Amino acid sequence: MIISEVVESDNGSKKYLLSASDSDLRKSVESTFFKHTEQHLPYLCISSQYGCAVGCVFCETGRQKPLGNMTTEQIVQQVLLCREHLLNSGSLGDNQELNTILFAGMGEPMLNLKEISGAVTEFKSQSLANRVTLTSVGIRHTADKLYDLPLDTISISLHATTDEQRDMLIPSKAKFSTKDLLEYFAAYHQNTGVPVIVNYLMLEGINDSQEDLARLKDLVDKDTFIIKLKYLNEVSSIDGIILNPSEEMPAFAKALTEAGFRCISDKSDGTEILGGCGQLKSQIRDIRSKYRIM
Ligand code: SF4
Repeated sequence: MIISEVVESDNGSKKYLLSASDSDLRKSVESTFFKHTEQHLPYLCISSQYGCAVGCVFCETGRQKPLGNMTTEQIVQQVLLCREHLLNSGSLGDNQELNTILFAGMGEPMLNLKEISGAVTEFKSQSLANRVTLTSVGIRHTADKLYDLPLDTISISLHATTDEQRDMLIPSKAKFSTKDLLEYFAAYHQNTGVPVIVNYLMLEGINDSQEDLARLKDLVDKDTFIIKLKYLNEVSSIDGIILNPSEEMPAFAKALTEAGFRCISDKSDGTEILGGCGQLKSQIRDIRSKYRIM
């Protein structure tokens, strides 16, 4: 892997473009670093596939042609190269260490668990971060392999309260149904003790009605899961589907908290460098030159 380009936001978030080789730039991924703030410790969001076949409508990666899995070696190199750049630029603060490596960049991690497993072993043996976490839409045929992965947290992308809504937002047939997703990960949590976060991307007119709120409360077990309400970042439009961020997030958060749910509201950093959730697309060059540092 080589770092082809780096951009940095005004608040110190960094986005890296990494390519498998300098002779084939089509196989490129992006990784994003978020520095220590009052809300979180420093973490690196990394990729696991070149493009993604899942095709979520709220994600730029899903609009790219899938070009295959990253290997264990490429995933580890991605972290080592970013970490070296962060250390050299003094971005890791006094501790000089990443708190978390998060598989939530380009690609669906559960479609590449073998290579990810090898990479996580390396992260642990080289002490590259204190914690390793993963975000997934939940893939049925590979789910049992998750038990072999020493994760500190896992996030599952629910984003909907009916299968109809979820099929529109996440078109892949390989994913769990809404009910099966929550049942599978409730059992996973019981068996492993790993905390499971349910991500719910709030979209105006799609999943933010009072009926959705009632169904969300019924579907999600408050003793098992933490709910993370997520704000939609700007992504390019997609045929026939209009996506806007919902203004109902504070009302949902209040209602869920009052009902006894553990609930977090989340707005991404790094959106000005197109490094927020759903914005990665291995095409860093369209970002205004103001942010480019390499
Ligand atoms: S959100 Fe994740 S699974 Fe969905 S298209 Fe983007 S990278 Fe793939």
